[in-house]
Amino acid sequence: MLIAELLLHRTRAENVVPVYNEFIQKIPDIEALSLKSASEIQKIAGSLGLEWRLKLMIKMAEVIVNRFRGQIPCDLEQLKQLPGVGEYIASAMLIFYCGRLLPLLDTNTVRITGRYFDLEQSDGSRKTKEFQECITYLIDPKEVSESYYALIDLGAMICKPANPECQSCPLREHCNYFNKTNKGC
Ligand code: SF4
Repeated sequence: MLIAELLLHRTRAENVVPVYNEFIQKIPDIEALSLKSASEIQKIAGSLGLEWRLKLMIKMAEVIVNRFRGQIPCDLEQLKQLPGVGEYIASAMLIFYCGRLLPLLDTNTVRITGRYFDLEQSDGSRKTKEFQECITYLIDPKEVSESYYALIDLGAMICKPANPECQSCPLREHCNYFNKTNKGC
C-alpha cells in the first residue's frame, strides 16, 4: 500500500498498475526493498519519472526495518516521520491498513462531500474542519476502508467533476446537490 501510494504521486493510475505489479513481484516485502540500490529500483519504476521518490522508497524501507523492526507503525506522527510519507499517505495508511476512522480528502472525496453537504469547495477545502468532519458522516464506522473504496469509485464513475450521474447514485436521497438541482421534478 505504501509503495502504491508513492508510485501514484502525481502519476496516472493506468501507468502505475503494470509498474506496481512488477515491483511487488520482484520486491515482495519491506526488508527486500531496504536492501535494493537506487539503480535496481530505477530499472523497475524509472519509466514513471520522479526519480527522487524511488530513493525515498529505499530510505523509507530502511527506517521501517531499522527503527520499527519491519512493522509499519499505526501512529500518525510515526508514519509522517517515514521518508516520502506526508499527511495524506499517513492518513490513507491509518484508514486502509490500520482500520481507523479518519477523514481522507482528495479531489474526488472533496467533490462528493461538498456536493452532498452543500459546502463551498476551494483549493483549501481538504484542510477545513467542516469538510474533515462532514466526510466522516459518509463513512460506515464498521466498514471504514470499504466505505472509502466505495466513495473513491463513486467519485470516478458517478459523482464526476462534470455532469454527475445523480439518477444512478445511491447517495441521492439526502444529497443537497441532487435535491437542489432536481427541485420540482
Ligand atoms: S446525488 Fe449526485 S451530486 Fe450527490 S453525491 Fe450522488 S452523484 Fe454526487
